[in-house]
Amino acid sequence: KTTLMWFRQDLRRRDNPALRDAYEQGKILPIYIFDDTQTGKTAMGAASKWWLHHSLNALNESLNGHLHIFKGDPETIIPEILEKTGIQRVVWNRCYEPWQIKRDKAIKTHLKENDIEALSFNGSLLWEPWQVLKKDQTPYKVFTPYYRKGCLQQPEPRMPQSAPDRITYAKDYDDCLTLDELSLLPDIHWYKTMEQCWKPGEEGAADNLSVFLKDALEGYKDERNIPSVVGTSRLSPHLHFGEISPNQIWYAALDAKQGNTDNEHLDTFLSELGWREFSHYLLFHWPRLQTHNFNDKYNDFPWQQSKANLRAWQQGQTGIPIVDAGMRELWQTGYMHNRVRMIVGSFLVKNLLIDWREGERWFWDCLVDADMAANSASWQWVAGCGADAAPYFRIFNPVLQGEKFDTEGEYVSRYCPELKHMPKKYIHKPWEAPKEVRQKAQVVIGNTYPAPIVDLKASRQRALDAYDKIK
Ligand code: FAD
Repeated sequence: KTTLMWFRQDLRRRDNPALRDAYEQGKILPIYIFDDTQTGKTAMGAASKWWLHHSLNALNESLNGHLHIFKGDPETIIPEILEKTGIQRVVWNRCYEPWQIKRDKAIKTHLKENDIEALSFNGSLLWEPWQVLKKDQTPYKVFTPYYRKGCLQQPEPRMPQSAPDRITYAKDYDDCLTLDELSLLPDIHWYKTMEQCWKPGEEGAADNLSVFLKDALEGYKDERNIPSVVGTSRLSPHLHFGEISPNQIWYAALDAKQGNTDNEHLDTFLSELGWREFSHYLLFHWPRLQTHNFNDKYNDFPWQQSKANLRAWQQGQTGIPIVDAGMRELWQTGYMHNRVRMIVGSFLVKNLLIDWREGERWFWDCLVDADMAANSASWQWVAGCGADAAPYFRIFNPVLQGEKFDTEGEYVSRYCPELKHMPKKYIHKPWEAPKEVRQKAQVVIGNTYPAPIVDLKASRQRALDAYDKIK
């Protein structure tokens, strides 16, 4: 039998359950549809599009040029292909954004009504969100019981499958687009710096995994907090686009430590994969997570509107070095270290009192790993309104955070080179440096580097007062 293999967020050959199924049935017609018709406000951001372009290119190469590309509404494109080719079987791996679930359900129903076999598989989560429930059959809201009592008590995650070696392709279908016709690459060349940091595609994912297992897994629990070193896997964009499955990562990490889950580094790393699952779980059970406070109490929060402050934050010009370094890392590389994401997030929603949704939107556009589940859940976590969130009144002091996690100021120097001659005593608070020190470091506050846009102490108090209003 010939199968239409619909690639989506599973842009890989290895451990791809839908592809494996299609392969076992006979010939394959592989397709990708860039669906910008039903996304609404969640249309793909610019950095993600850059990534997708390269990822599709890599996938096409690994399919010997047989990937067929389309743009538009899959609800009309798929039936058209089936009609023209006579194919009677469609497979895909599931996606979990609410609009995708709705769309895919409609497609499946329509296909089945027309006697087409339509099958979906789990290719991107370790545990299906509907499988992990509390004893009373309601979803968990707190991470630790969700992960330890819910997930880890389930049967072991599926073992990864190898890639099908010799795929037989169906006759090519002409009525499709070239990759360039999708116009995914942005007009401005800001992405040139991103090219030096990433290798989108299955091979890039495999490289990052092996480097991580060799150099960083041992030590992960501590090094994962240091933004100047590569102490984490940098697998998030690869995971988002499905160039690697969480199952491959899970079992490779277990193998690297001979299954010793008492190893604190391994345990911490696996639990981060657990946080990824938890985000998808929350989005599945609370589909409005991207736009609505998980905790209703925050609906009356007195957010402030300040275009100037928002812009300074977005451009890495707040005058708070660790915040600026993070925002510039994001702009230059499409990525930001997790510790710094928490710091810049806290600064936006607490010191600047700007609604977390503004931060969510900016990240959505700039991150190569922009992921509706992880981004919304994490922003809500930072803002205090999410499930199992950091309490609002726990406000990060960005100077102390910088001094603790970027002790030598290496990270700040890298992304704010105008501060690189500041002695480490002042690099996280250059405005406090005596005049002679600033002169020697060639820093003129308000000129070569901005003065802080808010007073940290006063804005902290203002945040606490705002919180009191909804408490
Ligand atoms: P590692 O430390 O190597 O972790 C391995 C994998 O676990 C990651 O690739 C990721 O898939 C997952 N993971 C780790 N931490 C988290 C977490 N807190 N929540 C969910 N999954 C996690 N992650 C995204 O993938 N997409 C986003 O859009 C996103 N937005 C974020 C926004 C904010 C405000 C914050 C605080 C965090 C956000 N994160 C997001 C989570 C986290 O910062 C990244 O997943 C992580 O930095 C990716 O780097 P890594 O692959 O080296 O992670």
